Parts: sequence; C-alpha cells; structure tokens
Amino acid sequence: MSDCIFCKIINGDIPVNKVYEDDKVIAFNDINPQTPIHILIIPKEHIPSTNHIGENNAYILSHIFIAINKIAKEKDLDKQGYRIVNNCGKDGGQTVEHLHFHLLGGRQLQWPPG
Ligand code: IMP
Repeated sequence: MSDCIFCKIINGDIPVNKVYEDDKVIAFNDINPQTPIHILIIPKEHIPSTNHIGENNAYILSHIFIAINKIAKEKDLDKQGYRIVNNCGKDGGQTVEHLHFHLLGGRQLQWPPG
C-alpha cells in the first residue's frame, strides 16, 4: 500500500536497521525502543492487522514465529526470555496499520502491561 510506512520500509524507501529478512517477512529495530532489544517483525504482504488474518493468509503467522525463533537465538534471548506483543486496533494501541509483532527483551519485563 503506497501510504503505509511499513510498506515503504519493505520497498526500501525508508531506511531501517534490518536484523532479518526472507522472502515473506522482514525484521528491524524499532525506532522508539521500549526495551534494550526491541525488534519489529512484519510480513511483506500488506495485512492491516490481526483482524485481517483468515484461512487464506494464516500461514504467515507460523512463518513469522519461526523467524522470531531464529532472531531470539541470534540475539541470545532464547535462554533469558522475551515477550512478543501484537497490538490490534485503537484500544490495543496499534499505531501502524500493517500487521507487526514486537519482540521485546534484554531486561526483566513486568506484568501486566498498562
Ligand atoms: P504499534 O504501536 O503496535 O502499531 O507499533 C508501531 C511501532 O512502529 C512503534 O513501536 C514505533 O516506534 C514503530 N515505528 C514507527 N515508524 C518506524 C520506523 O520508521 N522505523 C522503525 N520503527 C518504527
């Protein structure tokens, strides 16, 4: 989508610090990190949110979580632990309407989130 900031990142129009890429997803450092390690994992296909996951595109979720697993190992987070967050819609705190998962780690996280 032409006015989607994450599609622009995928197309290389906006530079990011990329940490992982394959044919279906990319992952890059969040511009406003909330933890020492804060990485966004996004599908290359424009899917606005979790509300838009269905039988036709649900395969992307397993692909994303396999990528997360690789990134967590690469960043040495697999033993200490980390958190995956998906914000959906206004009340969920979603600000970019392109499906994405936050990988948060590098310190002890609190629960519940605000
Ligand atoms: P949301 O609030 O769950 O939609 O998360 C969107 C995230 O995208 C926020 O954590 C932002 O800091 C991040 N973000 C927005 N623009 C950019 C960018 O250009 N590069 C990297 N991260 C971005």
